[in-house]
Amino acid sequence: MGFPVSYYCPHCGAVVELERDGYLADKSVTPYPLEGWNYADPDDSFEDAEGVHFVCGESEATGVNWTSDVSEADDVENPMLDSPCGREFYLSFVKYEDGREVEAVPESDYVTIGGQGPATTRGPSGPRGPTGR
Ligand SMILES: [Zn+2]
Repeated sequence: MGFPVSYYCPHCGAVVELERDGYLADKSVTPYPLEGWNYADPDDSFEDAEGVHFVCGESEATGVNWTSDVSEADDVENPMLDSPCGREFYLSFVKYEDGREVEAVPESDYVTIGGQGPATTRGPSGPRGPTGR
């Protein structure tokens, strides 16, 4: 078995613990699926998928624990929402193709000058790992 890792809902900040294998590397948690990623529900064998699809406060599986904590991170979209909010969000694992990490293409940002990704300091496309908080 794995060990619990904490994530939070990007909509309302609800903190969820997911038990999973340690070899998987997290890429990001986003309010929408990444282009080209395949998601499984937490009670599916998501470790064979490329990410996990959550419904805030509603996804149930052996390894899922909604802690009733709410993250105060400033990239939570709407901290005033009732938490958990029942909206969907997506945990994406890092995936590799030909030994190189696959970069997600943000839907609203297909053209990026300089190749360093969006220049904004906030927004749904930034990498966001386990918070541990
Ligand atoms: Zn939520």
